[in-house]
Amino acid sequence: MTAKTAIVIGGGIAGCSTAYALAQRGIKVSLLERNAAIASEASGNPLAMLYPRLSGNDAGSEFALAAYLFSLKLYQSLNLPAVDFKQCGMLQLGFNQKELSRIQHVATQNYASEIVQYFTPAQASATANLDIVHDALYFASAGWLKPQQLCKRLTQHENISVSTATQALSLLKVNHHFEINTGTTVLESDIVVIANANDASQLHPELPLNTQAVRGQVSLLKASGYSQQLNTVVCGDGYLSPASYDTMHCLGASFANLPASTNRQCDLLLDAHDHQSNLDKLKHISPTLYAELQGNIQGGRASLRCTASDYWPLAGQLIDTEKLKANPPRASADVNSLPWINGLYMNIAHGSKGFTTAPLCAEMIACMICNETLPINNMMAGLLNPNRFQFKHMSLKRLAKMIRSAS
Ligand SMILES: Cc1cc2nc3c(=O)[nH]c(=O)nc-3n(C[C@H](O)[C@H](O)[C@H](O)COP(=O)(O)OP(=O)(O)OC[C@H]3O[C@@H](n4cnc5c(N)ncnc54)[C@H](O)[C@@H]3O)c2cc1C
Repeated sequence: MTAKTAIVIGGGIAGCSTAYALAQRGIKVSLLERNAAIASEASGNPLAMLYPRLSGNDAGSEFALAAYLFSLKLYQSLNLPAVDFKQCGMLQLGFNQKELSRIQHVATQNYASEIVQYFTPAQASATANLDIVHDALYFASAGWLKPQQLCKRLTQHENISVSTATQALSLLKVNHHFEINTGTTVLESDIVVIANANDASQLHPELPLNTQAVRGQVSLLKASGYSQQLNTVVCGDGYLSPASYDTMHCLGASFANLPASTNRQCDLLLDAHDHQSNLDKLKHISPTLYAELQGNIQGGRASLRCTASDYWPLAGQLIDTEKLKANPPRASADVNSLPWINGLYMNIAHGSKGFTTAPLCAEMIACMICNETLPINNMMAGLLNPNRFQFKHMSLKRLAKMIRSAS
């Protein structure tokens, strides 16, 4: 491994976990964040839930489970205080026929009981400490964390320097290193990781990313005498945390695709309809909790997810798109013969599960940079290939699912 310095652009969970994975390997990392503090955009919600959504034995479930187990192990290793990270367990309810079929199917997949168990309503109620009327999957190690505390902890590393109020305006490859212009200075490094979510295309405009900004809002609800007995996260088509955040429950989350032309600042104002849509989700979880909490909204927070059209993150090494288009490869081409850009990587598009998915993608990128065995198999790493939409545009579907082999 010859890389000594890296710049990571974006101070959300994707950027902070990437910086951490590189710093752990002895690489000196500069993390750039345009806001006054890290974890200010999608990663700035009061609480994030940690859980996988499994459907069966498909690649999506395999990735979701691998990412969940990896992120739990990482977060446990950070020794976060209990007020910032709690593995209180999570119940996923079979609240309608579709969800019931899904959880029943997951129960046939022979997952270890330490990972997930199928519960009757009586077992679910005993675990949640409240009446649950649905069958459920129980993830004993799932829970919640405080995103800002986590991101702060990840970046408190002797090999990481954080520059806030610093926006990367342009990115240039010059010989064997990169130059990033911030408007006031030009920074140099051996490696660059683009981890700035919906703004990634501003730094690497040639590559089609097929991402969409998806507005979401969480609601904070003052606990009632009854609701504060809840001691697990409960999930239907939304989620409700135990009353852990300053005696508030966190109820989430709404979804709305934003047209490219909208004014994003205006879109971050709290919206009463979104609070109501969150309460409607609570009704599916428990009509009793809905009756108890519907008048208890104390605030909330809106932000923008970044979601790819196929719902997989975009993570891995980038290709020189201009060279690729100028010299289109054959469908059977050797993947190592393609114009990979040495040192340039991306970690974005974590949709609604970034606190579960970003750390594993970060680890994979660090392994690619340091020529280590990847933490996931090549098939799964191929599904994360950040160049996949470019390859698909060129009818190169085989290459879209491939990654460069370690040299
Ligand atoms: C309402 C809501 C609820 C959610 N609930 C959960 C949940 O319970 N569990 C879960 O796992 N996930 C949840 N998510 C999803 C999760 O928040 C995201 O997947 C995650 O935060 C994405 O992290 P990120 O680092 O990719 O993006 P971000 O957190 O948006 O970080 C990108 C950063 O890049 C910075 N940036 C952009 N351009 C530049 C530039 N040119 N130079 C420097 N900096 C730049 C931005 O300022 C920003 O800080 C939720 C999302 C929403 C909206």
